[in-house]
Amino acid sequence: MTNKKKADIIIKLLEDKYPEAVCGLVSGKDPHRMLVMAVLSAQTTDKIVNKVSRTLFIRFPTPESIAYSAAGVLEEEIRTIGLFNSKAKNLRLACKRLVEVYGGVLPSDMKELLTLAGVGRKVANLIRGDLFGLGGIVTDTHCIRICGRLGFVENKNPLIVERTMDALIPKGEQSDFCHRIVLFGREICNAKKPLCEGCFLKEYCKYNKTKNKSS
Ligand code: SF4
Repeated sequence: MTNKKKADIIIKLLEDKYPEAVCGLVSGKDPHRMLVMAVLSAQTTDKIVNKVSRTLFIRFPTPESIAYSAAGVLEEEIRTIGLFNSKAKNLRLACKRLVEVYGGVLPSDMKELLTLAGVGRKVANLIRGDLFGLGGIVTDTHCIRICGRLGFVENKNPLIVERTMDALIPKGEQSDFCHRIVLFGREICNAKKPLCEGCFLKEYCKYNKTKNKSS
């Protein structure tokens, strides 16, 4: 079976299992919230970001309010999140650029998004997919691990995973696919102990086949 055919089947099976492909970050698809929450989510959990965001956006409801915030105030608000000092610095810079260069309107272009501090390809693809409907493979830890286990890509380099999966998943399916992969990774194909026995993708999984051969 070709990887394309296998990807088509897996897209469908994931859709059946997780009809609602929801993003773990509860941003309400508001551009300001999505940008801030995505930047905050690096190396931490969506749960922690969602918790902090409940009060964060009352105090900082707009890009301007973050861009010109007094030193230490934003840091204090997000201090329970890992790397809060550098994240606060990035958020100030990103929001300042957003206000001063883009008039407060988040751009959809990949190159422009990448000029915002704290925004890498993963965050840019999340924004492009969820806000603008342009698709994008969000190469978070679940995506990299699971696409590797399924046998789509050997390499763990995020850019290689992104390019490989971009060629296999239709643009219109990419955002939902990535959200579903996160749900699947949390529930079944987790990093330490994947639940292969009852997994609905095991028939298509390289990791499972290799494991069974060697046992
Ligand atoms: S069979 Fe195991 S490793 Fe493969 S996708 Fe399912 S849970 Fe993950």
